[in-house]
Amino acid sequence: MKTLHNYINGEWIKSKNSDTHEVLNPANQEIITKVPFGKDSKTDVDQAVRHAHKAYLAWKDVPTMKRVQPLFKLKALLETHKTTLAQMITNECGKTYNESMGELQRAIENVEVACGAYVMNQSEFSENIASGIDEFMIRQPLGVCACITPFNFPGMIPFWFLPYAIATGNAFVLKPSEKVPMTMQYVFELIHKELGLPKGLLSMVHGGKEAVDGLLEHPDVKAISFVGSTNVARYIYAKGTANGKRVQAQGGAKNPVVIMPDADLDTTTKIITDSVFGCAGQRCLAASVIITVGDEKGMYTEALVEAAKNRTIGYGMDKQTEMGPVISSESKKRIENLIQIGIDEGAKPLIDGRNCEVSGFEKGNFIAPTILENPSLDGTIVQTEIFGPVMSLVHFDKLEQSIDFINRGKYGNMACIFTRDGLAARSFRSQVMAGNIGINIGVAAPVAQFPFSGWKESFFGDLHAQGRHAIEFFTQTKVVIERWPKDWSRKF
Ligand code: NAD
Repeated sequence: MKTLHNYINGEWIKSKNSDTHEVLNPANQEIITKVPFGKDSKTDVDQAVRHAHKAYLAWKDVPTMKRVQPLFKLKALLETHKTTLAQMITNECGKTYNESMGELQRAIENVEVACGAYVMNQSEFSENIASGIDEFMIRQPLGVCACITPFNFPGMIPFWFLPYAIATGNAFVLKPSEKVPMTMQYVFELIHKELGLPKGLLSMVHGGKEAVDGLLEHPDVKAISFVGSTNVARYIYAKGTANGKRVQAQGGAKNPVVIMPDADLDTTTKIITDSVFGCAGQRCLAASVIITVGDEKGMYTEALVEAAKNRTIGYGMDKQTEMGPVISSESKKRIENLIQIGIDEGAKPLIDGRNCEVSGFEKGNFIAPTILENPSLDGTIVQTEIFGPVMSLVHFDKLEQSIDFINRGKYGNMACIFTRDGLAARSFRSQVMAGNIGINIGVAAPVAQFPFSGWKESFFGDLHAQGRHAIEFFTQTKVVIERWPKDWSRKF
C-alpha cells in the first residue's frame, strides 16, 4: 500500500517519516492508503514553510486581480471533478454521496466569494483629514499561513481558508486530517497539474500532532487556522498566540434545538432528525439536545422516534442510504459507551442504536439513530459532545427556562428554535449565546459570504472563517498619513 507524499515546492516529495498511519474506509475497514506520521513531520513542515516563504515574497506583489485568476480555474476544476471528489469523501469519511456533494458545493461557493477579494480587500482613503493631509488604510498579506483541519468535512473545510489566503497574497500550508487525506490529495493533484500557481505557494504536509507542532513553532508561519475538537483548539490557540501568531481556532459543539408547542409537526420532525442524524451526527452544527417546550411534548416525541427509526443505514455510496457509519471503530466504541453512561445516569432509551449491523458491511462502524429521553441535565451526555447519531430529549415548561439552560452550556456553536411565533423567535435569537442561530432551520450553516464560527468554548480567536472575516484574518492593516506641502512643489 502506497504512503502518500507531501506536496512541497510544487512537487510530490516523500516524507522524512518512516512511521505511517493507516487510513480506513469506515464502512468496511479496508485500508485506503497510508499517511506519513511521527516526529520527522517537523522536518517536512520546515521544508514546506521555507519554500512557502520564498513563494510569498514574490506573490505578495502580484496585483489582486491577477491573484484571483487561478481561483476562477479552481472553481471550474472543482465543478468538473465534483462527482469523483464526492466518492472519495464518502469512501474515506463515511457520509452519504449526497452529503459529500453538499459539502463540495459549499467549498465551491467559498472559492467564488474569494474571487471577489479585489473588492473586499480595497483600501480606505480619506482626503484632507487636516488641511493638505490625506490618510489611507491598505491591507497587506501576513506571509505563510497554515491550516489544520478535522475529519468530518474533508472537501469543504480547507476552502473556508485556502482561497482567501491566496487571494490576499499569502502562501498557504495545509495539514489535513490524517483520517481523511485522500480528498485533498486529489484536489492538490488538480492544483499541481492545472492551476499554474508559483511553486511553493500552496503546500500540503501530512501527519498528526508533530506536524501541527511544527507549524505552531515555525517562526515563518504567521497565522494558523484550525478546525477540530475543543481541547485541541484551546491548545492550538494558546501555543500559536504564545509564539506570536494570529490564530483562529474553531472547536467542538453541543447544539440545542427548541421545539415550541406551535411548531409545525411534520416539517419540524423532518428537519430536526436530518440535523441530528445527518452525517451520522458528525457535524459541528448537528442538533444534539432537543428541547420540547410546553404541552405538546408527547406528540413531538412520538414523531421524532418514528422518523429516526425509519432512517436507512448503510454504505454511503448506496442510493437508498440515509446515514453512513461513524469515522472509526474507536469513535463507535466511544459513542456506544456514552449511550450506556446516559442510561446509567437516568435517561430512558426510546431507541437504542447500538449493535447495528449492515448486511455486506459487517465490519463497518455503524450506529443506528439513538434517542435518550430525560437525561440528567447536568449529566455526561447532555454536557459532552458525542459526535454521533444520538439525540438527548429534554423538556421545559417555558421558553425562558430553555434559554437559560442553553446559555449555561459551555459551547456556543449553534442553537435553533422551531415555532410559528415571531416574538418567541425574536427573543430566542436575541438572548441565546451562540454564533449561529436557526429559526425553523436545523443546520444553521452560514453561506460563504457570511462569517462562520461559534462562541464560548466553540471558538478561540477573533476573526471567523469565510467571507469578509477571512479577508481580514489573512491581511494586516497599514495606515499611511501623507502630506505634500505646496511650497515643496517645483513650478512646471
Ligand atoms: P481533532 O481535534 O481530533 O483533529 C483535528 C486536527 O487536529 C487534525 O488535523 C489532527 O491531526 C490534529 N490534532 C489532533 N490531536 C492533536 C493534538 N493533540 N495536538 C495537535 N494537533 C492535533 O478533531 P476531529 O476528530 O478530526 O474532528 C471532530 C471535531 O471537530 C469535533 O469536535 C467537531 O465539533 C469539530 N469541528 C468543529 C467545526 C467548527 O466549525 N467549529 C467544524 C468541523 C468539526
